[in-house]
Amino acid sequence: MSDAEAGTVYLVGAGPGDPDLLTVRARKLLDSADVVAHDSLVHDDLIESIPESTRQVDVGKRPGPDGERTTQAEIHDLLVETAREPASVVRLKCGDPTVFARGGEEAEALDEAGVDCEIVPGVTSAIAAPGVAGIPVTHREHASALTVVAGHEDPSKAESALDWDALAATVAAGGTLSILMGVGQLPDNMAALEAAGLDPETPVAMVERATYDDETVVTGTVATIAERAQRADIAPPAVTLVGDVVEVREAVDDCLRSLQRQTGRVSSARLRGD
Ligand code: SAH
Repeated sequence: MSDAEAGTVYLVGAGPGDPDLLTVRARKLLDSADVVAHDSLVHDDLIESIPESTRQVDVGKRPGPDGERTTQAEIHDLLVETAREPASVVRLKCGDPTVFARGGEEAEALDEAGVDCEIVPGVTSAIAAPGVAGIPVTHREHASALTVVAGHEDPSKAESALDWDALAATVAAGGTLSILMGVGQLPDNMAALEAAGLDPETPVAMVERATYDDETVVTGTVATIAERAQRADIAPPAVTLVGDVVEVREAVDDCLRSLQRQTGRVSSARLRGD
């Protein structure tokens, strides 16, 4: 595939963290783009690997002391104006650019402005975070469905976009729930699942900073995970998994430990809270 072309915006997934999990296409584009506009949730080593001659824009925050986030409209304007210079622009997002990353909105804005765009998929944390922790999101004996949700809304809000009764029913029927952006609302979300009739003993795991050196996993149940996560100081970014697949982790733990020793990536903190 060709290198980055002037006048085009590439919506690129950076994967969950570890720069080795970047796609080959993403690497080629990062090495050849004129401009890279990235979010704050991209590994420092990946940012540092971008050639020095490349113009870099951190759209995670505005310059200046207020530390406010750049608005989505500002990001759209920046992408359109930069592409029209003309320059080749990589819009780098953590995970996959179309999973809770506004890649769809940005593609729509580019289309409206008549700017060419390409979507470059990335490894999404919704699947990779549990995966590296030994939790397969599907398994012939445990789960045949996967539901990915954003957990940052208050579940008691009347206009909540999520139907927690339906989510509880999915898990009870043998599905896996992967909750992104759910650390702040964890107690409320678990209470909503329990109120909807989900067995409080249903296994739950949280994987914090998956694939980073300080990756941490905490396990428990719908009834216990909020307290365990608080005790372990779990903070964003983290993915929460609900469902029987969480138990597979114990069956593969020995082989994961040997993997940890080989790579030296994961500290003993990984098993905290088990
Ligand atoms: N586009 C991203 C998701 C962006 S929303 C993707 O496909 O992965 C941001 C959320 O992603 C975080 O709140 C967290 O839930 C999750 N996340 C991203 N990177 C993560 C990581 N390394 N470990 C755990 N969760 C992560």
